Order: sequence, then structure tokens, then C-alpha cells
Amino acid sequence: MKQENPFRKNQDITVSIDGMTGEGQGVAHLDGVAFFVPDTIPEETVSAHIIKVEKRYCVAKMTELLEPSEHRVQPRCEAFTACGGCTMQHMTYAEQLAQKRGFVEDAIKHLGGLQNVEVLPVLGMDDPWRYRNKGSFPFGSVDDSTAFGFYAPRSHRLIPLHDCPIQDARITELARQIAAWANKYNIPVYDESTGKGCLRACMIRVTSDGKRMAVVVTKGKLPHETELIDRLSEVDSLYHNRNDADTNVVLGNSFRLLKGEPTLYEVQNGLSFAVSPQSFLQVNPMQTERLYRTAIDFLDPKPEETVVDLYCGIGTITLRIAKSVRQAIGIEIVPEAVEDAKANAVRNGIANAAFLCDKAESALPALLQKGIKPDAIVLDPPRKGCEPAVLEAIAASNARRIVYVSCNPATLARDLKLLAEQGFSVEKVQPVDMFPQTAHVETVCCLYRQKKDFISVPHESNNADYLKNR
Ligand code: SAH
Repeated sequence: MKQENPFRKNQDITVSIDGMTGEGQGVAHLDGVAFFVPDTIPEETVSAHIIKVEKRYCVAKMTELLEPSEHRVQPRCEAFTACGGCTMQHMTYAEQLAQKRGFVEDAIKHLGGLQNVEVLPVLGMDDPWRYRNKGSFPFGSVDDSTAFGFYAPRSHRLIPLHDCPIQDARITELARQIAAWANKYNIPVYDESTGKGCLRACMIRVTSDGKRMAVVVTKGKLPHETELIDRLSEVDSLYHNRNDADTNVVLGNSFRLLKGEPTLYEVQNGLSFAVSPQSFLQVNPMQTERLYRTAIDFLDPKPEETVVDLYCGIGTITLRIAKSVRQAIGIEIVPEAVEDAKANAVRNGIANAAFLCDKAESALPALLQKGIKPDAIVLDPPRKGCEPAVLEAIAASNARRIVYVSCNPATLARDLKLLAEQGFSVEKVQPVDMFPQTAHVETVCCLYRQKKDFISVPHESNNADYLKNR
């Protein structure tokens, strides 16, 4: 029988940190109990105050740093710890990358049961700050003045910000301008608890060619509209979004262009992608380029091939693949993203890419049923990973090469295990740091089919010419 947790809430302890969770919290072990201590680093010794006790673990808050790690640095952000976003700002960037490689390696070994897979060093940034090209901030009242910020972790308490050092500086500059407009004209801030007030949030994007888009979200009509337009005169695309619902969803359904261009464009590797207020794009353009380049390198596409791109979003990967293969088929569940993907294909003059709006778990089996024989499959699922039906369909297909792009090492490892059981070997694992200062890590994996009884299908039979029949 497991003994009860002998520790009590409000107890003070001294612990040595011996690991780190995938969320970037230090972990220590004492008397068979795990302690999660935020803002610490492996090999540090700290005094901590227990704030939560569960059966097998405790959460504790560091009260004194007794022996600091050589990897500790002064966090740059005024809101470090309070905001909860950048849980690794107290570590050197080199150590952040080492820890992230460890997250991927641990997951693949322990959750995936794959002992002999080498995880390559994480591809990091030369300058790991100001990389985000999109910010979304709620507004709140602080000392009778309107401020923007982030909500504290698991709460709706506003942590006001003057700046956020992982955002492009032009983004927080615009948020400050909107707050200044609200303060000047006494625009009441929306209050979630009462449903009263007007100004809710703003969303701001900057494209790689320096154009700016701002969306101001209100409950009810937009007051002092002319003054807002005047104040944001340098913005290239300004929208009002009206969200009258008393929910915590940021954007409502109604968008109105107040000024400038309805759509901006993001150019990646010679392809241009439409950026409208709701389009999904990766938020770190420099690292996105490296992520996609790695995925294409691993895919090694050939001119006669058919490639399926599952979870394709607006077709950023599909259209790149299409340039090098006979046909590329993207599958995505969100109808607006599929519309964007189709328009992106047309605008870029790409005729050999098709997009299907469906769940990957039903669309891939249906494609195979129709006689499509993909030579390779790319997949980039959301954090929860793939439904088993997707992995089974991949195994049942003719695809010999799989490129799996993942934003969650735990679900990646679970899915790799299943693919390995189906006869694929994991050849390369390349983590890419898309979100410096945070604990998130993106990983690109390359798998080859190893099945001995696999029968090669000649390319001539690889058609049912899907593109003509779509
Ligand atoms: N590859 C794209 C998008 C990856 S994000 C890029 O790099 O930009 C994951 C995408 O999967 C999202 O666009 C989401 O809408 C989509 N998605 C989520 N569940 C899905 C499902 N069951 N089937 C197909 N697409 C899904």
C-alpha cells in the first residue's frame, strides 16, 4: 500500500531540484513525494512553502534561493511569474533549449517506449525576443485607468502590461495607443462579472513586410470611432469586431473594416498567404520558415509523387509540397481555413493542390477507399495529437514516408509508439524552438515504413485522378 503524503499545506521545506516538467516547473523529490516548484532550475537548492497537497505530489512556492544554478538569469519581463506565459525566462537561452530537447527525449523514451531514437539539438533563434507577430490582449481597469495585459494563469484577473518582450514592439505600441484612446474618451471597460461596459480586447498583427493590422473588440457599438481611426493612422488594416456575448471568447462574429486594406499578406518562401483577422498563421515567422524547411527536407518530395497533408490549416505546408510533387492534397476541419487555402493556391498559381474540408480521421480512410495512393503523408495535428483512426489509415496506406510535425511531445510520443507498432521506424527527430522563453516546443519527425512484406505500387496506378474529379 502507498503511504499517505506526509506533507501538509503551509509547511516550509528545503529541496534540491532534480528535474523539470514539460510546463517549465522545477521538480524535486523528498520522502517519495514529488514537489513542483515554479521558477526554479534543476540542480538548485531552494526553500519553499507548500501551497497545495495531493496524494502523490505537492505544489510549493520558492521562498529563498539557497544555491542558484549557473544557468539562472534575470528575467526581462515586468510580469514574469504573474502572467504565467514565459515560464523559462529565468534561464539562459542555451539552457532553455537543452531542457526542451530533454522534454522531447523523455517523452519519446518513456511514453513512446522508443529507446534508440536520437533527438537532434533544438533549432533555436539567434535573438530569442520580440519574435511574435500576433498579440491578443484583454483590457481592464487598473487604478481607474484603462490598461491592457494578460490574464493571470487560470483566472480572469488582469495583469497589466506596458510591454511584452516576446512581442514585436509595434504590437504593444498599438495596444498602448488603443488604451490611451479609451482613457482620453472615458470608454468604459467591459466587465465580465457584470456584463457591463464596452471595450473588451484588441488583436494586433504585424506581417513580415512591416504592415500592421489591428482589431478592436467591443460589446455594443464602437464609441469615438473617428478619434480611434485618427489615433491609429499608421495602421494598414483596422477592424472593429463586435462581441455582445457574455462569454470569454475574444472575438465575436461581426467584423467591420474601419480603415485600410481588408487583407494583408505574409510572404513565406516565395508563396504569399492571406492574413485576415481570423486566419490561423504560425506566430513566429522566422522559426516557421525553419520548421517548414525541416519538414520539406525530411519529406524529400519527388516530382511523380502524391502527398497528403493532414491538418493543413491554410495550406502553408501543402502549397510548398505542391511545388515539388505531382499532386498535394490538404485536409483540414475548419471551413474558413480551407477557403483561405484554396484562395492561397489560386493566388500563387498552384494548380496541383486540392483541399478537403473534413476530419482527418474520416477523410484519409475515404481517400484511400477512392483509390488514392499517397507516397508520403505529412501531419501537423493540434495538441491532442491524432485519433487512432488516422494512424490506422496511415498504416493501411501505401505511404512509405511520414513527416509528423507536433506541438506536444507527449501526444507525439504516444502516436509514434502506435506508428512504430504498425511497422514504421523513427529516423529523425528535430525539435524547433517556435516559442522562446516559454516551455513549448515544436518537433518534426521523419518515419520510414519498415514492413518487410510491403509491396511497392508503381506510380502509373497511383491516380484515380483526384484533382480532375474534385
Ligand atoms: N499545418 C498548419 C496548421 C497546423 S495547426 C500550419 O502549419 O499552419 C492544426 C490544424 O488542425 C488546425 O488548422 C486545426 O483547425 C486542424 N484540425 C484540428 N482537428 C482536426 C481534425 N480532426 N481533422 C482535420 N483538421 C483538424
